[in-house]
Amino acid sequence: MDLQKVAEERLNWLGEFGQDPTGGVSRTLYSKDWVNAQQALKGWIEAEGLESRFDEVGNLYGTLKGKNDQETILTGSHIDTVKNGGKYDGQFGIVAGILALSYLQQKFGQPLKNIEVVSMAEEEGSRFPYTFWGSKNIIGIAKREDVENISDFEGIPFVEAMKKSGFNFRDETKAPRKDIKAFVELHVEQGGVLETEKKSVGVVHSIVGQRRFTVEILGEANHAGTTPMGYRKDAVFAASEMIYQIIQRAKELGDPLVTTVGNIEAHPNIVNVVPGGATFTIDVRHTDKAVIQSFTEEIVEKIQSISKAHDVETTIDMWMDANPVPMDAGLVEILEKQCQEKGLNYKLMHSGAGHDSQIFASVVPTAMLFVPSRKGISHNPAEYTDPADLAEGIKALIGALYELAYKE
Ligand SMILES: [Zn+2]
Repeated sequence: MDLQKVAEERLNWLGEFGQDPTGGVSRTLYSKDWVNAQQALKGWIEAEGLESRFDEVGNLYGTLKGKNDQETILTGSHIDTVKNGGKYDGQFGIVAGILALSYLQQKFGQPLKNIEVVSMAEEEGSRFPYTFWGSKNIIGIAKREDVENISDFEGIPFVEAMKKSGFNFRDETKAPRKDIKAFVELHVEQGGVLETEKKSVGVVHSIVGQRRFTVEILGEANHAGTTPMGYRKDAVFAASEMIYQIIQRAKELGDPLVTTVGNIEAHPNIVNVVPGGATFTIDVRHTDKAVIQSFTEEIVEKIQSISKAHDVETTIDMWMDANPVPMDAGLVEILEKQCQEKGLNYKLMHSGAGHDSQIFASVVPTAMLFVPSRKGISHNPAEYTDPADLAEGIKALIGALYELAYKE
């Protein structure tokens, strides 16, 4: 099997479902393109001689049955994309999983344990205000009431979209699957570390934790010409000092801490009015919860003291606090060993983005593999990974699945 060629062909084929006029992919949960993509994948899975099935909510599985069918090694990723995304994020992990199962079946026949590839319904939260619908249903933590009252941007209710595409709620009285013994997700890095360091594969040892804040500053709006500098309560001036200090401190502390102020607003946002209000967001990520805690405490103190010095009122709202998720040490070791044995140019690294793997990690041994993203670009039609790197990632996945499902 020419993995480079087949992987690229299949990504182009799958990327046509939901292709938008800019060359990107817009394939959101339970849309027509989403349904067509899942149905097309089902056809491919069957053509490869694997068993296919959907669960109630629309996760699609392809299974290579083992001699002991009570234990399953799971791989795969999510089929949904962001609006105007690319054709690697998510779908590469599915394509890679199907190719890996097909390769293993042809080369080694029936495994001891089931090997299953999953095309998960949803991860991105880009149609409805809910994320990880696919993986949360598999492990049984998605709740009916979480989505019963939510709608998309056009006002279409979640439940209506789900039912229209032929799916329904999971039976919450039934216990979630107990047969899954490991989950390995292959995904594009969505950052520039592998490319910069000229590596083909990343073995992920942890997924960062995150905290997000909104900071609101209340000063005093006034005439830009008649208010002398000394009499002003300029909210933007206070905000700019806060932002500078936060980012400067993050730079001093260095990797793997990252901090972003990605949204800033001034009120009333008019050229000749001293801004009476300013709002900005902070996103902090690190692999160690203790560092996230101490760093965010430090920046909160900074914000408060700058606020006092500027004589403005400031409120700080932390609206997201997600813990870092370590990957399973035993699985990470297996993945590393496969990379070494196959002579792959790999690197042990952390993930700065969230993935389905963080959901699985709470209940089953989980690990991830990355392949490089050109220029670190993702969630964009320009997403691209060199086919040679795609193939290296699939080889590592094949090796890991063999170790997990064919050996005692
Ligand atoms: Zn993804």
